[in-house]
Formats: sequence, structure tokens, C-alpha cells
Amino acid sequence: LASKRYNLTRGNYASIRGSDINFFQSILGQTRVFTEECDVDGHNLDWYKAVKGSGKLLLKPKTAEEVSAILTYCNDTKLAVTPQGGNTGVSGGAIPVFDEIILSTSQMNKIISFDEISGVLVCEAGCILDTLNEYLMEKNFIMPLDLGSKGSCNIGGNVSTNAGGLRVIRYGSLHGTVLGVEAVLANGTIMDCLSLMKKDNTGYDLKHLLIGSEGTLGVVTKVAIQCPVKPKSVQLALFGISNFSGVLETFKQAKQNLGEILSACEYMDQTAIESVVRNLNIRNPIGDFPFYMIIETSGSNEQHDEEKLNTFLEKIMADGVVQDGTVASDYTQIRSIWELRERIIEAQLLDGFVYLSDFSVPVNSFDRFVHDVQNQVGDSGTVTGFGHLGDSNIHLHVISKEYTPELLSKIEPFVYEWTSKKRGSVSAEHGLGFKKKDYLSYSKSESVIDLMRNVKSIFDPNHILNPYKVLPDKK
Ligand code: FAD
Repeated sequence: LASKRYNLTRGNYASIRGSDINFFQSILGQTRVFTEECDVDGHNLDWYKAVKGSGKLLLKPKTAEEVSAILTYCNDTKLAVTPQGGNTGVSGGAIPVFDEIILSTSQMNKIISFDEISGVLVCEAGCILDTLNEYLMEKNFIMPLDLGSKGSCNIGGNVSTNAGGLRVIRYGSLHGTVLGVEAVLANGTIMDCLSLMKKDNTGYDLKHLLIGSEGTLGVVTKVAIQCPVKPKSVQLALFGISNFSGVLETFKQAKQNLGEILSACEYMDQTAIESVVRNLNIRNPIGDFPFYMIIETSGSNEQHDEEKLNTFLEKIMADGVVQDGTVASDYTQIRSIWELRERIIEAQLLDGFVYLSDFSVPVNSFDRFVHDVQNQVGDSGTVTGFGHLGDSNIHLHVISKEYTPELLSKIEPFVYEWTSKKRGSVSAEHGLGFKKKDYLSYSKSESVIDLMRNVKSIFDPNHILNPYKVLPDKK
């Protein structure tokens, strides 16, 4: 249990009573209020089975008005609430710590509108990312974000975590692509910031506070997002590289030579690829190397893009920067190369417990980071690094047979101190949630954290929304 492992005391919240259940049933009916263990259990455990909560009540509203009625009641009676989307988050943010009510957006899953001229999609928060992408593909558009969890994560969860993923290098973060947000605040107010316009300089842009707020400032109910046109040609290259300076040189040259069509730049070390090959039986089409990179291009002219990527590959191989490589342009080949990257976590979980974390640090320090953490943990764990090189974002995982507090104490706070010295971020794209909230000070000053606390109190004066998450307790 998260509360026991982290030695937490329950906040001064009300406990759920029969009269509360009756009230929620009066709003949602009998079929969208769940109290049976078999219905609630799956929502109490995160995707990695690393954080477990003790939620006793699960609610599945369908509209912003229903969410508003629920939150008004919870605010008045001081019942704590944890918003949950697809429950693929990796910081423990979507899991109740004690008996917070789980408010799932899974039934708020309607696409409201799509404008084929502007490319603006408006949908409810519970829409699954991949479903939105499939819908858009038929109209020759795509979602501006792509994550390994796309089959389960929800757009409301994506916005609430400011999810990054594979396409940030091309389309930017959700702070750029999300045009509008509708959210319900703790007191039930429906905050309508659902602008459809790219430009809107009318006062403070409050939607940005909701993006990345991890359910602590409001429940996101609708999202308006700018979607790019589906590229006519997509090419992918997998490179094998024998030293880390070759990785950096490949990145630099990719930006110079593929600039306008570059759409992903990923990095994996040998340990990461080896686990996918061994545990999931996925073929690595090139030889064994200490480092691998995936470079994706997306453009509008297949012949031109293919020629460009091939010329790039020939050049960096001739220069001795890259030792081996392959280019894929048909869908099946492209998918199987992406699997080598996207299924790393799934493969690593088959080897035991994974202490996972993501950081922003300067790209030239990725390899040093992995080495230093390996030295720190010694033979009690295997350290591996991979991630979104193009965005300076490394996922640094320590794999061991099982969870032990001793190994955790070797990893933390060492990794946060290391990141802080580089002026990096202790959370690049996964958020702070429950697991990282106490390390916020490694990336933000006390005065900035205090300002965040003030914002929280304005949006949620009774602190009923996702308690024990994001903000550290005041010392
Ligand atoms: P949840 O896990 O349900 O919730 C996450 C947080 O958002 C919680 O704090 C929750 O309270 C809050 N929340 C959810 N919905 C709402 C809402 N409607 N209103 C208010 N708060 C809400 N992340 C990346 O950024 N990049 C990646 O490349 C990436 N790859 C992944 C690969 C795998 C295999 C997995 C399992 C996860 C990956 N993730 C990645 C992490 C995760 O998928 C993202 O954080 C995702 O955005 C979470 O969406 P969700 O709907 O599952 O949210």
C-alpha cells in the first residue's frame, strides 16, 4: 500500500457514508456508482503495479454537469477525490492513496467536432488517444502526440500530465497544441476555457495551469486540440552506434540534414534493446551495439524523403559515425522497429521490479548519467537509459529481481541531486504525481513552490482534489 510504504497519515477528510452513496446514485443512477471490490480494485493499482491505493468508491460521470454536481457535493462535505483517465500514468497520480473517491472519465468519450479546414478537434476528456488518432487518420489528419500507451491513455489524462512522447520534436508540447480546455473546479464551477483559436490574448491563459496539473486543480472534461495533417510519407531508420559521441553527432547531423522532415529522434542503450529481443521475441534487424537510435521522418514526397534519409545514412556511415543501419518505409517494417522502442518497459517488467524515472538533462550527459547511477547502485540493479533524445528527455530505469527499500535509498535522492546539478528537471514528461512530489525542490525554488501552493488554494481551497500529489508538504 502506497500509504504504508511511504509512511503517510490520512488527511482530515470525511469518510464515505451510505448517504453519500445515495447522493451519487441520485446523480449517476445505480449503474455508474461502484462499491464492489471487484469493480474498484483495478482502479486502485497503477499500470506498473508499483502503487496501490485503498479507494472504496468509483464514479463514472458522463457529462461536465455530472462532474460539477459530484465535486460541489464533495467540496461541501470534505470528501477527497482522485481523477482518473486511462490509468497509464507512471507517477502514481491516478491512484488514491487512502480512500479518495475515484472519479473516472472513461464514459466521457464523445468526439464533439472536427474542423477539416483548421484541423481543430474538440472531444471529451475520456477519449482514448489511439481512437482519436484512428478517427483523424480517416480524415487525413493525426494527433500531435504519440505515446507507447496510446491504446489506453485518455486525452484528459494526456492534458493533465502534459504528456510528451514521440512527436514533441516535431509538433511541440501540449502547451502549444492544446487550444482550449473545459474543466470542473473543486467547488463545482465549470471553467469554460474551450477556445478553438490559436491566438487568444485575452487575459491570463488559465488553460495552461490545467495542462500538467495532474488532477490537483480541476477535472478536465473537454479538450480542443490543433491536429496536424497526416504526412504523406513516413520513413524510419534504425542505427547501431558504437560510442556515445556517435549518438550526439548523429543527432546534430540529423537536425542539419533532415531538418524540416525530422519527426522523431529516439535513443536506446543495448540493455534496453536486449530485454525487448529476449523477453518479447522481437527481432533486432541490425547487429549488437552499445547504442541505438531511431530517426523518423514525416513529409509530403515519398521519393524525396526516402532519398534524403538514404543519403543521410550513407553519409554518417561513410564518416564512421554510425556503424550499422537500416531504413524502413512500409508499414509492417516501421511498426516492428517502433516495437523495439515502445515495448521496452513491458519487456523490462518481465525481468523483475523496475525503478523507473524520467528526467530532462543535457543530451551530452545521458550516458554519464547511466554510468554514475550504475556505480551508485553497484550489483544490486542493472541501469539502463533510453528516451526522447531530441527533447533532452531520458528514461533511466534500474531493474532488480524485486523491490527493496535499500535499493530505492541508493537511487533516491542520488538521481535528483545529479539532475539538479545539471539544472535539469526531475520530471520531464511523467509528472510528479505521488512518487516524486517530495523531490520538487530539486527543480524549483521554495518561493516558486509557495506560489504553486497559493494557486492550488485558489482553485481548490479545501484541498479535496488529488491530495498527497504534486506539491510537497510544507516543512
Ligand atoms: P491517468 O494515468 O489516469 O492519470 C494521470 C494523472 O492525470 C493523474 O494525476 C490523474 O489524477 C490525472 N488525470 C487523469 N485524467 C484527468 C482529467 N480528466 N482531469 C484531471 N486530471 C486527470 N508518457 C509520456 O509523456 N510520454 C510517453 O512516451 C509515455 N509512454 C508511455 C508508455 C507506456 C507503455 C505507459 C504505460 C505509459 C507511458 N506514458 C508516457 C505515461 C502515461 O501514458 C501518460 O502520463 C498519460 O498521459 C496518462 O494518461 P492517462 O489517461 O492514462 O492518465
